[in-house]
Amino acid sequence: MPRVLVVEDEKKLLASLKKGLEQDGYEVITAATGEEGYYSATTEKMDGLILDLMLPGRDGMQVLNDLRSVGFSQPVLILTAKDSVEDRVSGLDGGADDYLVKPFAFAELLARLRALLRRDTTGRELMLRVADLEMDLIARRVVRDGEEIEVSQREFELLAYFLRHVNAVVTRDMLARDVWQEPMGVLTNVIDVYVGLLRKKVERPGLRQLIHTVRGVGYVVRDSP
Ligand code: CA
Repeated sequence: MPRVLVVEDEKKLLASLKKGLEQDGYEVITAATGEEGYYSATTEKMDGLILDLMLPGRDGMQVLNDLRSVGFSQPVLILTAKDSVEDRVSGLDGGADDYLVKPFAFAELLARLRALLRRDTTGRELMLRVADLEMDLIARRVVRDGEEIEVSQREFELLAYFLRHVNAVVTRDMLARDVWQEPMGVLTNVIDVYVGLLRKKVERPGLRQLIHTVRGVGYVVRDSP
């Protein structure tokens, strides 16, 4: 049973998070202040930490910095009421793995937490999945509908990128920058060719379409039809 620490000073929210997480099969430790949270995080065994930023005393960001500086390596999901881009970026720079802006849907929290706990403690993801397709990032295998698919190195990276952005539009500029790491200018056709090759491999007849074209913009991989 995965074990998580939740640090949150709003009593009602803390109680409902604990209850909901337990119903979803987690063992939950709670703390209501930054000091308590830091203490539990450094003395108890756990698989992940859910950390509110606005806490009395030592605030969440300070707790996170202190924990990372003593080698705390478990994934951290930040809860924040602040909705500005700077806060999000500084949260992630400060050693958080993901964040949720309050108010959030509990289902969203469960999904984010599951994704974080799939990574190992070095922060590496082990598996990516969408619909009936899964990628084992360590063994570098792609399996769809139970059958292994042979892909090239570039196709593998491209598919992994799509699976990290499920249901979000991926532009050709993003692909040029993040997958090819080259300026867009020379790549427009190359990108389309690779996406075409990848589609042929992962969307064999009888399987549903995963990679959709967004005309004039790029692509989107959808997890449902
Ligand atoms: Ca708070």
